[in-house]
Amino acid sequence: MTRLAGKVSLITGAASGIGRSSAILFASEGAIVIVNDLETEKGNETVRDIREAGGQAVFIQGDVTNPADMSRLAEEAVAQFGRIDVLFNNAGISGVGALHELEPDTWDRITAVNIKGVYLPSKYVLPHMMRARKGSVINMSSCVAEIGLARRASYAATKGAVLALSKSMQVDYAPYNIRVNALLPGTILTPFVERYLKSSYEDHEAAVASLMSRQLGGELGRPEDVALAALFLASDDSKFMMGSPLYIDGGVVFGKNA
Ligand code: NAD
Repeated sequence: MTRLAGKVSLITGAASGIGRSSAILFASEGAIVIVNDLETEKGNETVRDIREAGGQAVFIQGDVTNPADMSRLAEEAVAQFGRIDVLFNNAGISGVGALHELEPDTWDRITAVNIKGVYLPSKYVLPHMMRARKGSVINMSSCVAEIGLARRASYAATKGAVLALSKSMQVDYAPYNIRVNALLPGTILTPFVERYLKSSYEDHEAAVASLMSRQLGGELGRPEDVALAALFLASDDSKFMMGSPLYIDGGVVFGKNA
C-alpha cells in the first residue's frame, strides 16, 4: 500500500464525502495528507481517523474562496512538509434551480466556491510545484459538465468551467512536469446528495429511484469509487494522463438505458 509513499497531498473539502474518503485512502497509500475544509470539527475528525489507522495527516482550516486563507494554507503546508506533491481541488457546493428561480447571491456563491475555489488553491500551490518541477493537480468537475440535467444550470456552468480550466492549466504547467486532470463523477451518495434529495423531493425513496434510473448499472456511486480514481490521478500510475477528464459515473454520460 505505497502508491503515494511520502507524497504530500493537499485535499480541499476533506471533512466530508469524497474529500474525506480520498484523504483516508491517500494516507493508507503512504501519503502525508493536508486536510483542508471550512468545518474545523469534521476536518479534525478526518485527521483523527487517519492517525488512528496509522497514517499521517494535519488539518488546516480555510475557505477556498478567500485569497488570504489559501495563501496561508499553501505556506503552512510547505513550512511543515517542505513541498506539495498533489493538490486535489475537491471542495464544492451544489446549486439547484432553473436560472429564473436562482437568486443572484446564490449564483455568486456557487461560482465562487466551485470556480474561484479551484483557482485560488492552485494559484498559491503551483509556484511550489513549479520550483520542484513536479506535481499532480486534480480538479473536481462533474458529469454534469457533459450532459444537460434539469434545474442544475448554475452548478453545470461551474463544473464545465472547471473542465475547461483544467485543460488550459495543463498546457501552462506541462513544461514544469506538472500534470492537471479532472474528475467527472456521476451521482455519488454523500451528504451533498442527501441534502439535495431532502430539499428537492418529499418522497426520499422515489428520489433515490429517480436517480438510480439514470444509472446503467442501477447503483449510485460511493465516495470510495471516486477516491480510487483520485488516487490513480495522484499517483505516478497515471503519468501519461495530462489534461484528461476521468469519468466515474455508472455509465451516465456515455450509456443510455433505453
Ligand atoms: P460534501 O458536501 O460531502 O463535501 C464537500 C466538503 O467541502 C464539505 O466538507 C464542505 O464543508 C467543504 N466546503 C464547502 N465549501 C467550502 C469552502 N468554501 N472552503 C473549504 N471547504 C468547503 O460533498 P461531496 O459530494 O463529497 O462533493 C465533493 C466534490 O465533488 C464537490 O466539488 C462536488 O461538486 C463534486 N461532485 C459531487 C458529486 C456527488 O454526486 N456527490 C458528483 C459530482 C461531483
